[in-house]
Parts: sequence; structure tokens; C-alpha cells
Amino acid sequence: MIALDHSDIKTNNKKRIINLLSKERELTKLDISRKLDISVPTVTTIVGELIEEGIVEEAGVATSTGGRKPVIIRFLPNSRYSIGINLEKDYIRAVLTNLDSKIIEETKKELTVLTENEILDIIKMLIEHLMNFKEDIKDKLLGIGISLPGIINEDELTLEVATNFRLKNISFKELNSYFNIPIFLENEANAGAIAESKLGIAKDLKNLIYVSITEGVGGGIFIDNGMYKGKDKRAGEIGHMCIIKNGRQCNCGRKGCWETYASNRALIKDYNKKSSETVKSINEIIKRYNLGEENAIYVIEEYIDNLAEGIQNLIFIFNPDYIVIGGEISKYSDIFSKKISNKVFNSNEFYKEGDVNILFSSLGDDSNILGAALIPILDKFGF
Ligand SMILES: [Zn+2]
Repeated sequence: MIALDHSDIKTNNKKRIINLLSKERELTKLDISRKLDISVPTVTTIVGELIEEGIVEEAGVATSTGGRKPVIIRFLPNSRYSIGINLEKDYIRAVLTNLDSKIIEETKKELTVLTENEILDIIKMLIEHLMNFKEDIKDKLLGIGISLPGIINEDELTLEVATNFRLKNISFKELNSYFNIPIFLENEANAGAIAESKLGIAKDLKNLIYVSITEGVGGGIFIDNGMYKGKDKRAGEIGHMCIIKNGRQCNCGRKGCWETYASNRALIKDYNKKSSETVKSINEIIKRYNLGEENAIYVIEEYIDNLAEGIQNLIFIFNPDYIVIGGEISKYSDIFSKKISNKVFNSNEFYKEGDVNILFSSLGDDSNILGAALIPILDKFGF
């Protein structure tokens, strides 16, 4: 165990108190002291600081069984803000959230040429819009989290490679000096896993694998309450796990990668190959599926087969509590859920249905961006 010095303990206690108040909303100092096993004088000092910082306020008195009536301390979710940014297929989206991860304002802008300059210019513009949305935001902004579809270097603030966007070595460092505010980069699937574990369907679960299905397929590996990132923080590239040897050519240079069969792009491509009409979105394919169109049914069934193949591998490797599927297809869990479970669990001796739950994100398209916005909050307050 690492020994904590006095200031570490105080910071830690402060985080625990904010965390508790963010969940319980209103408590007396005695409640806080009892629930966290921190002495009343320490709670009083820390609560005093939090009142000064505007994160909590005194909100009347609670009933007392005798003696002085205790003061109620109330958590103020709009006392700090965070910005989350997500690089998507054709646009960049940005949201402003409060400490409850509630989206207060959002904005997006289309991408045209997809160069480093364009990406940085758009991000600056979006941040400026959100910062000026209300008068007090600049002063209360904790930081900016950026979710990116590739391998990132958190310390250097670079996107090292994003194969599906054909991007390499993009530095976000200048945003740091430009805005003079903490900037955090995170892989989109890791960001999604953070959101799912803190806000979503997997809230309070110890082990989950978040499968982010977008232009590619990414994975956020959340084990024993912590993110597993690997030696060089490159773990979780589950989309490049080979499911068919010498299969389809992947943008990474290899063949047969899972994402060439299970990404949004793969599903749209497969449909367009099969059909005489061209669609641009998953939504259009689902509409046709629901109308009973033969091509749509065929392509979706094949897609589910391929998706199940990779999920089965993940379950064998990780034995998680939950697999959470995020991205656009999570909106259509009514179509996918049962069929995927059947495929994953029907053909093996190790697991039966229910041993591992396969769920669809309840945050839908928002999980990656909310995860990005959570990073500055977690960094500051640890919740
Ligand atoms: Zn690949």
C-alpha cells in the first residue's frame, strides 16, 4: 500500500465528500461524517471550503431530536461545467455539461477536408461557442475532454493514428495554451466505457467490455473498477481482432479484422452491395428491415452473425459482468438483442445465456461524448 501524506488524505476526503453529496444531494455534516467515517471537525473544514468555492450551499435546517438543529448542505450541480468533444464520421460535436453530466448546450460542425488544421479550427470554434453560451461558464469550466477514434497519446496530447479517418500524428497541444484550460484526450471506446460505468446501463458494475460501434469497432476494457489500457495504452483495439483469416481488407493493413464485418461502415457497404438502391445510414437499412425487405433482412442476419463472433471471443477472454454495445445500433436493441444472445450462447460448452449479459447502451449516441466530458470532472473530483 502507498502511504498517503496529510494533504493527500485531505484531498481524498474532499473528493469523497463531493462524491457523496453529488449522489445524495442534501446531507447534514453529521450524516457526512457518519457515512464516510470522517471526523465532524474535518467535515466542517472541508464543507466550509466547498461553500467558499460555490460547490455546495447551506439550505435550511433539518429537524433535530434535541439541541441545535443541524444545517443541511446541498450539492450544486451547476457550480462547475465541463466540455466534451467527439470526432464523428462527417462532423465534430461538442457538448457542455454540468456536474450531473446533464447536457446544457450542444453544437456541431461538418467536416469537409479532414486535415489537422480543419479539425483544430472547428474544435476551437465549437469550444468558443460553448464558453460564451452563458456568462459564468468560462470561470466555472473544469476542462475539455476530446474523444477520438484511434490510438492517442494522453501525455503528448496527440492522436497517433486513426485508420478509418486516415489521420496520423495530430497534435492538440495548442488548444491547451489557446484556452489555458486542461485538455484531455481519450480513445472513443474508452470514453464510452467511462460513461457507461458512471452514468449508463453498467453503472456501479466492476467488469464490463464496452464495444463501440461507429465507423470502426473499438473496445473499452473496464476491469475491477478501472480502465485497462495496456503497456503503451493501446489495448482495446478489438475491432482489429481477426475473425476470418485472409478475410476482408482492413484499413489497418491486415485482413479479416472484426470491424470490416461489424462496423456501421461494413453494414452499410454490405447492404449497398446486395441491393440495387444505395443507402447512407443504418437507420435506412433498419426501416427496410422493419418493412420486411429481403435484402435488409439478409444483410442484418449476416451482420448479427459477425457481431456475435467477436462478442463470443471477448467473453472467452474477459469473462465480464457485462458486454455493453454502444453506438448507433444501440438504438435498435429491440431487433438485435435477442438474436445476438442466441448466437453468442447457443454454440458453446462454456457459457449459457444469462452468464454474461449483453446489453445495449442506454446513452445511445451520447456515450462517447459524455464520457469525454466526464474526464475533467473525474480528474478534479474523482466521481
Ligand atoms: Zn484492422
